[in-house]
This record gives sequence, structure tokens and C-alpha cells, in this order.
Amino acid sequence: MKRQTPTAPVLRRCTKAAVSILLLTCLALVSRASPADPEEGQPDPIWIKVWESAQSRADIARLIDAINPRRMSDQLFYLAKDPLPFRKLNYTLPGHTKSTLHEADDYLAGRLESWGYLVQREAVPVQAYRRDTTKPLQHQYSQPMPEDPWYTAYNLYAERKGRSRANEIVLVLAHKDSQSWVDSPGANDNAIGTVGVLELACVLAEHPSERTIRFLFCNEEHTPWTSVTAAQNAKARRDHIVAVFNLDSIGAKSAAETAAGRKANITAYTEPAGERLAGLMSAVNARFALGLEQRAVKRPSPGDDDGSFVRAGFGAAVVNIGSWPYSDPNYHVAGDVPERCDVPNAAMTVRATLAAILTLDQAH
Ligand SMILES: [Zn+2]
Repeated sequence: MKRQTPTAPVLRRCTKAAVSILLLTCLALVSRASPADPEEGQPDPIWIKVWESAQSRADIARLIDAINPRRMSDQLFYLAKDPLPFRKLNYTLPGHTKSTLHEADDYLAGRLESWGYLVQREAVPVQAYRRDTTKPLQHQYSQPMPEDPWYTAYNLYAERKGRSRANEIVLVLAHKDSQSWVDSPGANDNAIGTVGVLELACVLAEHPSERTIRFLFCNEEHTPWTSVTAAQNAKARRDHIVAVFNLDSIGAKSAAETAAGRKANITAYTEPAGERLAGLMSAVNARFALGLEQRAVKRPSPGDDDGSFVRAGFGAAVVNIGSWPYSDPNYHVAGDVPERCDVPNAAMTVRATLAAILTLDQAH
């Protein structure tokens, strides 16, 4: 679920982003030069300090190299084609006892446990959306009726406890369900983000982080969105969440952009604390030569699963997404198949997210 209205200064930002990449390169060379336009992600001096450490640079480079597009692709096809054609509570494969979403949960939990994580489940009652065929094809979800069936959806959590600042949490999340009102594999929306978070959990499984790194797999193609429960419970516990990265439809873009070989990531934020994270995404892309066309966008109001956290008071929340406004031609239709995912682009976004997480983790 996404599709935001276009924001006005998109073209201006494109040009400015290119300028800022050059500028960031210069800044990295001369350390702290004169202040740049803060909205374009001038590296914070505390990030530069992290990158000045040879040990930190080596750790970041080694973990970036460990991101494995082949593994991501295998997991993507598992979740969005074979054996699971969908991930929804209102579809169970013939002869199976669990819904395809609960089977996906078991698969994700099994992967995480194989890497040494303890997986926790948070139950949330939800309904499937109804389908309104009078609406445009990509927006046919409509509210369920009270008499429609209720299901139990689960938020899945895994985390790596920090060794010196365990109370400070970096949260990485993705919605794992496919569209409940239509038979779509939901490969770009959002099996690809799901395997992106899974990949981060895999490469960070043995990494001794200073802060706690928490992974959340939620649901937002059923209603209500389970990220709302996750965010409200985090608020009730007074969790000290220093950053939220939502991976949703990473690498997904228009057919023309895909054909042209564009490798893009947009980091959308709402609050100033989120803008700072968008600046960090831009800075690590430049600093570690990750090769993304990286752009920051201010969204007019909180949205998607990162928005659930913004609304709960966690302003340092962003989404990484492949296009803005979202322009996948197979959005919310049966053609959203894994063969059409740009896994190399998604892997680049995962590398940039990883570099951002590690920089935040080491910053003090
Ligand atoms: Zn969606």
C-alpha cells in the first residue's frame, strides 16, 4: 500500500542531488569544509568521525560485500512464486492447513532461527480488504464489513542486542504480506523489501553492534496495518528508537527506468529527524561508492509502515523505495511477479541501508 501524490520540487531535487554527491565527495576529502545546504544531507561530523576509523571502514566494507543478491533472489522466489504464490490470510494452498501468510511467517522465522536469532511473534486481529472493481485497477482495496472474517496476523521480531548502548534501537522493517483483495504475488510490493530485511539480519547475525538492531516483519495489505500495533507498543514500552528504516518496494520503478538500467533509491521522510536519515543515506551512497541514484523526498504526511512510527512519536523514520511517486506498472495487480524485480537494484539499496545502520551504530 503506497502511491503518494507527487511533490513539487522533484526535478530541482534531482539536479541538486547530483551536485550534492559531488559536494559530499569533496567534503569527504577535505573533512569538514564550509556548511552545505543541510536539507541535502551534508555529512554530520559524527558520521565523518566513524568513517575516519579504519576499523569501522573495514567492518562496513566487509559487511557490504557480504550482501548476497543470489540469496535474496532465492528467498524472493520462495515467498512470491514457489512454493508460496501469495502471502495472505485468506488464501491457503490446497491440502495445506495454514494460510500462505502463516506459511511465509514460518519460513521467515526458520531462516532467522537458522542464523541464531530468537523470533518473537506479536498477534494482531485483522481482516482482508474487500475488492471494489469500480475503482482504478491499482486501487481496488476497500474497507471490509464487520461481518467479514477476522484472522490473526503476526508481527515477527528478531534482534541483535547492543553491547554498550543496548537501550538505543535501530529498527529495520518491511511488510511481508501480499494484497489481500487480489491474487497478486506482491513481489515488488513487498517480498523484495522482506528479503532485503532478511538479508540485513543474515549479514548482521554475528556482528557485535553497540546499539540494538531490531528487525520487524509486519503486514499492511490487510487491515488494520500491524505496524500500527508495533509502533504503539514500542511507544507504550518507551522504547528508545533512534532510527526506523522501512524497506518497501526497493528497486521498483517504471518500465522505462528499468529498461534504461537505472538503479534508484528514494528515501522519503516526514520529520526533520527523518530528513537527517535521508541525508545519511545520501552520504553513505557517496562515501562507499554504492552507485545508487539516491534522492530524498519530503512526504506531505506520514505514510506506509514508517508512518505508523512517525504517528507514534518516532520522527526518525524513513522509507527506502525504488520510485517516487511509485511507478511500478504492475502495482497491486497479478503481474507483480518476482521475475520483474530488479534484484541488483534492491541489493544496492540494502547495502546503502546497511552502511547507514552501521554508521549510526558506531556514532558517538
Ligand atoms: Zn501495497
